Amino acid sequence: LEISLQDFFKQSVDTYPNHTAMTFFQKTFTYTELNQLIQFAASNLKNAGIQKGDRVGIMLPNCPQYVISYYAVLLCGAIVVQVNPMYKASELLHVLNDSGSKMLIVLDRLQPLIDQIKDKTALEQVYTVNLEGKDASFNQLLQNRGLPVPSVEMNPKEDVAVLQYTGGTTGLSKGAMLTHYNLVANTLQSEATSKIKTKYGKERTLTISPLFHVYGMTSCMLLNFYIGGNLILVPKFEPELVVNIIEKTKPTIFPGVPTMYIALLDYYKEKRFDLSVLETCVSGSAPLPVEVINKFNEVSGTQVAEGYGLSEASPVTHRNPIVGLQKAGSIGIPIPNTDAKIVDKDTGTKELPIGEIGELIVKGPQVMKGYWNNPEETRKTIRDGWLYTGDLAKMDEDGFFYIVGRKKELIIASGYNVYPIEVEDVIYTHPAVLEAAVIGVPDSYRGETVKAVVVLKEGAQLIEEELIQYCREKMAAYKVPRSVDFVKELPKSAIGKILKRVLVEQYVKSQ
Ligand code: ATP
Repeated sequence: LEISLQDFFKQSVDTYPNHTAMTFFQKTFTYTELNQLIQFAASNLKNAGIQKGDRVGIMLPNCPQYVISYYAVLLCGAIVVQVNPMYKASELLHVLNDSGSKMLIVLDRLQPLIDQIKDKTALEQVYTVNLEGKDASFNQLLQNRGLPVPSVEMNPKEDVAVLQYTGGTTGLSKGAMLTHYNLVANTLQSEATSKIKTKYGKERTLTISPLFHVYGMTSCMLLNFYIGGNLILVPKFEPELVVNIIEKTKPTIFPGVPTMYIALLDYYKEKRFDLSVLETCVSGSAPLPVEVINKFNEVSGTQVAEGYGLSEASPVTHRNPIVGLQKAGSIGIPIPNTDAKIVDKDTGTKELPIGEIGELIVKGPQVMKGYWNNPEETRKTIRDGWLYTGDLAKMDEDGFFYIVGRKKELIIASGYNVYPIEVEDVIYTHPAVLEAAVIGVPDSYRGETVKAVVVLKEGAQLIEEELIQYCREKMAAYKVPRSVDFVKELPKSAIGKILKRVLVEQYVKSQ
């Protein structure tokens, strides 16, 4: 376990030198070729002044340059700062300044944005990447100048590899310090849950989940390289493009997020295609409606295994076993070497009995070192070695866990706790519904009331009263939405999570 990520990658280069490591449209790279590009980039980065502990921002979609930059930065002993290429100026400034990044590797299209903010940051150098193969300054980093490859003494348990800024779903984004040890541990833990099925050196990982997000980074990239697989990079989620890539490359592993499963199923209805090649499908990062699991399993003949995690845990802590008992609607059981318990949500200390809802707390080698430059938030989040996830959950008699919502998103209507997921799960069973989000809106009489915001399937028709009536037949009265809004699309984060914070702002403001 006590190995740096760069040495961990090198082990695979030595084991699978001529296997394909990565595919980007028509272009493929063997482990040896990829390693060589990483070494050239690392020696050029070192030459450009990057030293141990420096922070380097990577602001790229899924592309080979992302992977090369990631490992080159690590090879210099420096820290990767994950930057979402969809950030607007204020978000970008926050991440660059909070991390104190001195270099940024960025998509050339974003140059105007960088020009706008650069003077307000500590950035000394910016390298641009072009995805169509045109010349851009990043190419200079790939040149072989005969410089020595950096060899930096690392302390995997202490040294931070990645600053993973939290999704910002619920507030201002904080930088989770993930050490080399955390990330190697989580890769091994994730691998252990699917070991029986893994075909070492032969798997192909469909990588649509963004690598700048913790889920794509670990569940796609780190895991794929560990098992000697081929990382099939897809820079954006468009069903037609994805299906094309599935047909051409026949990926065997698909770590997706719920919105991807929903969109693929929707596309499948129009144009049938073969989903059965995706042998190992996992879903994480947001709740996967039971209805979606059932439909996807039915049309693909595979079984989607839902898992759970968060940036602060590198990210995976729970997963449904790939082989054996799975429970739809559950996030599964803690992965190896992970402890989990449900505690009283207000005191955070008393452990609750089976079936009772409280805050989920977890402990394991994947738990972050803390938040970058933020000891106060670190103290609140990690107590006695336990990571307080901020998620409300319960455990059943078989030790399977169920997320019922975030602490911050709990709706209290007339004194009753309403967990948005329960209501959403019912709404998803309505045949006209494509996507749904349930939020609480202030109400002078009840404190809060339940509101559903719904996207209908193309051509489908449904009115507010019908959906409310549908819910009334399937749930206790206090959970039934008092109002339903139909919208064309829901606000989403880069990884496709529905941004309830934005919905709440929208509806609370408009009241
Ligand atoms: P921020 O912490 O900045 O508000 P975020 O919580 O979206 O953003 P991430 O670390 O990307 O940041 O996401 C972790 C969260 O995603 C978890 O705390 C949980 O709320 C949610 N999540 C992940 N997997 C699942 C799942 N299978 N079911 C339900 N929720 C999930």
